[in-house]
Amino acid sequence: MTRRITVLAGGVGGARFTRGLLRAEPEASVTVVANTGDDLWLAGLRVCPDLDSLMYTLGGISDDERGWGRRDESERVSAELNAYGVGWPWFTLGDLDIGTHIARTSMLRDGLPLSAVTERVAARWNLGARLLPATDDEVETLVTVAADGGATERVHFEEWWVRTRATRPALAFTQANVAASRPAPGVLDAIADADLVMIAPSNPVVSIGTILGIPGIADAVRQTDAPVVGVSPIIGGAVVRGMADACLTAIGVETSAEAVGQHYGARRHGGLIDAWLVDSVDASATRALEAAGLRAHARPLWFTTVDETAAIAADAIALATS
Ligand code: GDP
Ligand code: CA
Repeated sequence: MTRRITVLAGGVGGARFTRGLLRAEPEASVTVVANTGDDLWLAGLRVCPDLDSLMYTLGGISDDERGWGRRDESERVSAELNAYGVGWPWFTLGDLDIGTHIARTSMLRDGLPLSAVTERVAARWNLGARLLPATDDEVETLVTVAADGGATERVHFEEWWVRTRATRPALAFTQANVAASRPAPGVLDAIADADLVMIAPSNPVVSIGTILGIPGIADAVRQTDAPVVGVSPIIGGAVVRGMADACLTAIGVETSAEAVGQHYGARRHGGLIDAWLVDSVDASATRALEAAGLRAHARPLWFTTVDETAAIAADAIALATS
């Protein structure tokens, strides 16, 4: 029987992990539930950074050297938009990428929900996995930061992340309109009916945390009969790429593999995971993680090549199902 694997994933970390998983488990039926909290309207277009990172990486058309966007990209349209004063000058969209956003926006304007749009857009590429947005509703992550005169203000996650490079200390993260949002069709079933659920090494706060914040998704993870395994995005007390430590600090979680594992928590104690894979440099954390009710194992977690990432995914599966 084909193994059904459901992965909760953010953008780049989630995409690279899933690419390795697909190489390790070519026969599996893989569903990726993607974070949509980073999505935004820009220059009249619906931009979905994490869905697109997943689509470009799994479709084999991503710019792996730069770390985001499409290969062989140009930025002529962005330069024109800047000249008109439209959009955000610090948030450059490539021309090919803008093609994706126009296609998506056009389908949304025709009345299709994001999940159906994503299915249609992704059908052009051979992803080897089903790609689902966590929700069809617009639930955007806002970051509360200090403003002049002791006041606070809330800015869109992408503005905080890209324009200010997460340098303004975050006081809180909120998901606008989350209470009324619903998981996209297929998301809860993909978790409930899976043989294995995996939490990708994505940002625990603004990628995974945002997915789990959609009403019903965290409960589905707690209640599924499938084992749930996570892979640490933190290696040796540091985020591997990006600035996720700024997000962890804001929610009072230490930037360590152990603290993030404890933050998700063991399902047998009401948490979200059964097993937690950490890097070899964090091997000393496995005892405390096991004492907290988690199955834990240490091995190198750097995604150096797709084959190495596949070996990481295979070890995560072995840990979850052993
Ligand atoms: P984003 O949405 O593009 O920010 O990407 P994600 O939320 O999916 O993942 C970002 C996280 O991936 C980073 O904070 C890193 O901690 C993690 N990450 C990136 N590269 C690696 C890697 O090679 N190994 C591991 N274990 N984690 C990684
Ligand atoms: Ca993201």
